[in-house]
Amino acid sequence: MFSALLDFLFPPHCPACDAYVPSRGGWCERCLAAAIAPVRLQVSGAFEAWALGAYEEPLSRMVKELKYHGKRSVLPAIATFLWAVPVCAKGPFDFATCVPLAPKRQKARGFNQAEEIFRPWLKEQGIPLRQVIRRTRETRPMYGLTKKERQENMKGALALVEGASVKGARVLLLDDIFTTGATAEAALSALKKGGAASVSILCLASNAGR
Ligand SMILES: [Zn+2]
Repeated sequence: MFSALLDFLFPPHCPACDAYVPSRGGWCERCLAAAIAPVRLQVSGAFEAWALGAYEEPLSRMVKELKYHGKRSVLPAIATFLWAVPVCAKGPFDFATCVPLAPKRQKARGFNQAEEIFRPWLKEQGIPLRQVIRRTRETRPMYGLTKKERQENMKGALALVEGASVKGARVLLLDDIFTTGATAEAALSALKKGGAASVSILCLASNAGR
């Protein structure tokens, strides 16, 4: 009843072109087909590594609205994007985990965007989400750093949460944006050190080579 009223007052529209669509969060077919273009990522040691699409409009705008303005109303439109996941992350996975935010940022934001983005898909697939990676120290913001500086910045900055066991596990590592892979590599190395059997990486969007 409420959602019918909401649709009447604020008709759902495509996040990319503003055309009316039948359901909230839906994309028109044309825009969805143009936006979803899985990108294979280069991460040495990963079992497989993918981003669902390029970090471009309108996806980039939605991610920024979520991260910097806490605008959760973009989540249904991002969730529509998740239909490409099975092409990228084939599994099976014992559990999924997200790259942790810096504690200060997590506290200020109140949520980890990667968790919010992938939660509907994880729930549908019955894949548990476990927070097994922690930050060991503060890192500099990555924006504007070269690949080498990013790797230096992340070196040893991630480790397993105390008492977390990942031995023999097939892990799906989730993040929102992939740029040089420095963060993903640091997380992967922590998981491998803990004895994970395989680590697959899945990011929402790739900003590599931009
Ligand atoms: Zn559209």
